[in-house]
Amino acid sequence: MTFTSRFAPSPTGPLHLGHAYSAILAHDMARAAQGRFFLRIEDIDQSRARPEWEAQLLDDLTWLGLTWDAPPLRQSDNIETYSQALDKLWECGLLYPCTCTRADIKHALSAPQEGVAMHGPDGLIYPGTCRPSAPVTGPRPLDCALRLDIARLLQHIGTAPLRYTETGLGTDGQSGDLILNPAILPAQLGDIVLARREMGTSYHLSVVLDDAAQRVSHVIRGRDLFEATAIHVLLQRALVLPTPIYHHHDLIRDEAGKRLAKRDDARAIALFRSDGASPVDIRRMVGL
Ligand code: GLU
Repeated sequence: MTFTSRFAPSPTGPLHLGHAYSAILAHDMARAAQGRFFLRIEDIDQSRARPEWEAQLLDDLTWLGLTWDAPPLRQSDNIETYSQALDKLWECGLLYPCTCTRADIKHALSAPQEGVAMHGPDGLIYPGTCRPSAPVTGPRPLDCALRLDIARLLQHIGTAPLRYTETGLGTDGQSGDLILNPAILPAQLGDIVLARREMGTSYHLSVVLDDAAQRVSHVIRGRDLFEATAIHVLLQRALVLPTPIYHHHDLIRDEAGKRLAKRDDARAIALFRSDGASPVDIRRMVGL
């Protein structure tokens, strides 16, 4: 297996120090292993993605000295692939349409019988308001969100433990061979959205399909995505795709210990560049 890693930025803001750390780490690990490094532009949210951010990202990554082994894969060019995967899941009766708004979900969860509302990787755990008692048949609707019926999926793929390898550190410091217990996944994840109404796909579906398409052997990314890995491993089983090794790294924080967000423009690589910093300075700043 050729060590293959990737960096998958969303072009919705400037590349900041946290991204630079993730990109350099994924790049250097691949180069150290004589492997391959790819870029993926995660631009399915067309309401927020901007070509000028994409151009700036590529320019900053080149300036940092990173090289990639194929032209970047742009997710907005790949919508047909996501659509085919959704068709497959739909035909197996594993998706259902959902018209709930965030406010509807909050309201349903505030009912006394629901107890304390729990959070999963995608925010509040969906209470199942739109979940049908039998699989929905007919053509796949394109004008609403589609949720994955996780309990039904488990009937399809079986309830054997799902295993994967974490070589970084999960949120509780977990690493090594990790085991997901399918019995608790429906409650832990809720029926996640696989197709958003305005996108025709979702981050979780696209990332899993593209990691497989780019033959990524090592997913190197921030710890903030550790919890989402359970969804990704589950989807890989559902779609019969290989599970890469996951390496979740620490997040770069500001002086106050707060996680850097894209809106922290003061940490934008472009600003450090215009202040005369060198790529070596950036590496030093992020501890590499
Ligand atoms: N596009 C995601 C982000 O910018 C990264 C997803 C991933 O690495 O799996 O946070």
